[in-house]
Amino acid sequence: MVEVKVDLEKCDGCETCVDTCPVEVFEMKDQKSIVVKEEECLACRACEVQCPNGAIEIIE
Ligand code: SF4
Ligand code: SF4
Repeated sequence: MVEVKVDLEKCDGCETCVDTCPVEVFEMKDQKSIVVKEEECLACRACEVQCPNGAIEIIE
């Protein structure tokens, strides 16, 4: 299974990952990105590439 990790120290709440992910893995909560549907992740790595703060890590 794919693991989706968000480093909340690095996340500034820009919402890019929410807009980028095709299967809605992320949701915003208190201006941070929370992983809510990890099991849906396709490991496309779009979020990892797009996050301006390098806060997301996809582990296969
Ligand atoms: S793209 Fe990165 S910085 Fe922006 S909300 Fe998502 S995890 Fe946080
Ligand atoms: S790797 Fe792709 S499918 Fe998985 S959380 Fe990131 S954008 Fe969504």
